[in-house]
Amino acid sequence: MCYDTPMAHVILPIPLEEKLDILTESARYDVCLASCNASAGGGRGRVRDPSQPLNRWIYPAAVPGGGMVHMLKVLMSNICVNNCGYCFFGASKNCGRRTFFRPEELAALFMKFYRSGEVNGIFLSSGVMGGSEETMEEMVKTVWLLRYRYHFPGYVHLKVLPGVSEGLLEEAVRLADRISLNLEAPSVEHLGKIAPEKDFRKDLLGPMDKLGRLIRRGEGRTASQTTQFVVGPSEESDLDILRTVDWIYRERFIFRSYFSAYQKGESPLRQGGGEGDVLLREHRLYQCDFLLRAYGFRLPDLVFDEESRIPLQTDPKTAWALMHREMFPVDINRATEEELMRVPGIGPLSAFRIVEWRRENPFRSLEDLKTSGCVVSRASSFIEFSGKKAREEQLYLFEREPPGEWKMGVEPLQKEKIGRDYSYPAQKGKTVNYLFKGGNTVPLYCR
Ligand code: SF4
Repeated sequence: MCYDTPMAHVILPIPLEEKLDILTESARYDVCLASCNASAGGGRGRVRDPSQPLNRWIYPAAVPGGGMVHMLKVLMSNICVNNCGYCFFGASKNCGRRTFFRPEELAALFMKFYRSGEVNGIFLSSGVMGGSEETMEEMVKTVWLLRYRYHFPGYVHLKVLPGVSEGLLEEAVRLADRISLNLEAPSVEHLGKIAPEKDFRKDLLGPMDKLGRLIRRGEGRTASQTTQFVVGPSEESDLDILRTVDWIYRERFIFRSYFSAYQKGESPLRQGGGEGDVLLREHRLYQCDFLLRAYGFRLPDLVFDEESRIPLQTDPKTAWALMHREMFPVDINRATEEELMRVPGIGPLSAFRIVEWRRENPFRSLEDLKTSGCVVSRASSFIEFSGKKAREEQLYLFEREPPGEWKMGVEPLQKEKIGRDYSYPAQKGKTVNYLFKGGNTVPLYCR
């Protein structure tokens, strides 16, 4: 059946291929999918040749543990009884045609594409039809059919809906390779502004905790859980978001966080909101997240302005460096790996290479350093080689006074439980994919 408005006017049955078109288009803006190759199709949406119907909705994605999957990203349904302020599919919105798959339909359709070699993974999400429990049952049944009727061995990323029962959470962990449950906002108050039907603690944090425990027990297939924040609509600050991110990492609920800028007109899911810098803000949040997970930074190291925003004019690591001018220049041939990773332009891989390679051949110039993979143009203002300036005429950036409104040393949530050297146990030793602005994916090892 197909519904042409949220008020559920039942009209003609529609062909499966058409449903697929509607429900893959609707799924397109969910960013909780490991490193979809945004560059290949020109931005955050579709990839490959859009004149080919199926190609429009297959996403090459780097998956945890390495390797690429061609993922069909699809909704079970774009019908929803909720009315989240940032979402185009809310019950009161006119988002065009609404429809849903039955589990048997979607499983059979997916297997057709799998057998023809066009896809080898699926990302399944949904609006809430009737109730979360009923909809989640349909989603879990779809994956069950894939696993047990069709013996599909490949990658499944399953979105968990808010407030579903423990039994369904257990089933989801048993069947899917990766699970995501979106917080969307950083606190009870912020979520209340944009999604009043959802209970932050009961519907989101509770199940997230439960999923984290089930995943750590290791009895199911699921390797990790992710979440997503919509950036902007609840008037949250960057600090509000990053405090919650820091907390859910410490509590081992979540393996990684995604951030989705809420911007007017850019996508159906993000209509009606923020302007201008929101994409840059999203990018800075990703940079902060990677500093936290892969560079050994902790929340109190991050720089904010007086309104608890991340400075947009510079990247967060350079902001940290400008606030720590006493730490520079860093000597490439003497510094520890941790000190090297604090230098703008030097990442975990280049820091590792520098420490390994300098044993045999100390670095003498910026030219030498290029081979390590570091971004020399950014690093050159912060380094020296065995006591010699990287450039004679160099104007060291770290000698600049940082803007007076910058501050750091913010307190994490639940500060009484942690020391200065707190860590994120769920990330430690794992490899994550960092998607650079240009669209390249680089695997990073988390410390
Ligand atoms: S975010 Fe999800 S629950 Fe909220 S209106 Fe959109 S589809 Fe429905």
